[in-house]
Amino acid sequence: MRFMNLDRQYDLIKDEVLAQLEVVLNHGQYIMGPEVITLEQQLSEFADAKHCVGVSSGTDALLIAMMALGIGPGDEVITTPFSFIATSETIVLLGAKPVYADIDDRTFNIDPAAIEGLITAKTKAIIPVSLFGQCSDMDAINAFAQQHGIAVIEDAAQSFGATYKNRKSCAVSAIATTSFYPSKPLGGYGDSGACFTDDEALAEKMRTIRVHGQTAQYQHTLVGVNGRLDSMQAAILLSKLARFKEDLANRQRLGDRYTSAFKAAGFEHTPFIEPHNTSAYAQYTVKVDQRAEVIARLREKNVPAMIFYPTPLHQQPAVADPDANCPISEAMSKQVMSLPICAFMTDEEQEEVIDAFIESIN
Ligand SMILES: *Cc1c(COP(=O)(O)O)cnc(C)c1O
Repeated sequence: MRFMNLDRQYDLIKDEVLAQLEVVLNHGQYIMGPEVITLEQQLSEFADAKHCVGVSSGTDALLIAMMALGIGPGDEVITTPFSFIATSETIVLLGAKPVYADIDDRTFNIDPAAIEGLITAKTKAIIPVSLFGQCSDMDAINAFAQQHGIAVIEDAAQSFGATYKNRKSCAVSAIATTSFYPSKPLGGYGDSGACFTDDEALAEKMRTIRVHGQTAQYQHTLVGVNGRLDSMQAAILLSKLARFKEDLANRQRLGDRYTSAFKAAGFEHTPFIEPHNTSAYAQYTVKVDQRAEVIARLREKNVPAMIFYPTPLHQQPAVADPDANCPISEAMSKQVMSLPICAFMTDEEQEEVIDAFIESIN
């Protein structure tokens, strides 16, 4: 068994994707072509955000969002240590300091109560990560940010399609960033990402930064990056977006099915989804004791499992903060494991995983 079966989706959309790629190859606008404009329109409609800026990756989306806010040396950005490296790597790349707030041990997301004591005069933004597909407590985070006059950037790389209190992930903070890396809920066939905002001025700034800070041909008013989106990637994503609601519903069905089967077998440490949230189930992550043994037993039964993430960011040499006080993140990084989930998993495959997991923990 494999952790994901993205090739099965390709079998379903092959004719359409190849036809759209052929259109791009013929019109010749290989970068930022008409497909990019159409994709941005459809993504902003889907996410209920006024503006969408298509970019080259989820990492560049974070970088561009922070550059648009003017974050740089001497600034502090509060974020979670329980995430992928890109979240804090981009903060460090801009010369700012990631300040790590510990997480909630049920949702694995940043704990608003832990943010409060970390705010200083240097704090410029808070970056909550909607980890494994579920938003953080955005109302509490936004209220707190507003009170202190700082920005909130939702790192929604894993939560495109999720909802928070009936609002869409990517539209629950001043800026949001997402990724279309192949294994994300909405994934392309290569690297790409997007920034979202309702703020016209910020959107314009992000569009400018995306193309080397250029406002007219060879006029550079800002320092930018090469953060452009390829037309071919946009064409692929348009085909995927057309089927995304169905894929998302299937992920959610599989997630719920895992949870009821595990609960029925007496296993309680299934993902906790807040009643006001729906998860995009980027990962199906459980907590176990003796994780190494459980994973080894699963492997014997040909069931792959992954660990997201084995080391919290405050302990990663590149972005470390020895002063961070994040015991819950440290404990969770020793207990979590993710089981195969993907919109193209069959019910039979899932039953195999369910049986193997229940046998492996007992
Ligand atoms: C994947 C991911 C990113 C980076 O996205 P890329 O498109 O791979 O650059 C950033 N943050 C989180 C939480 C992610 O999961």
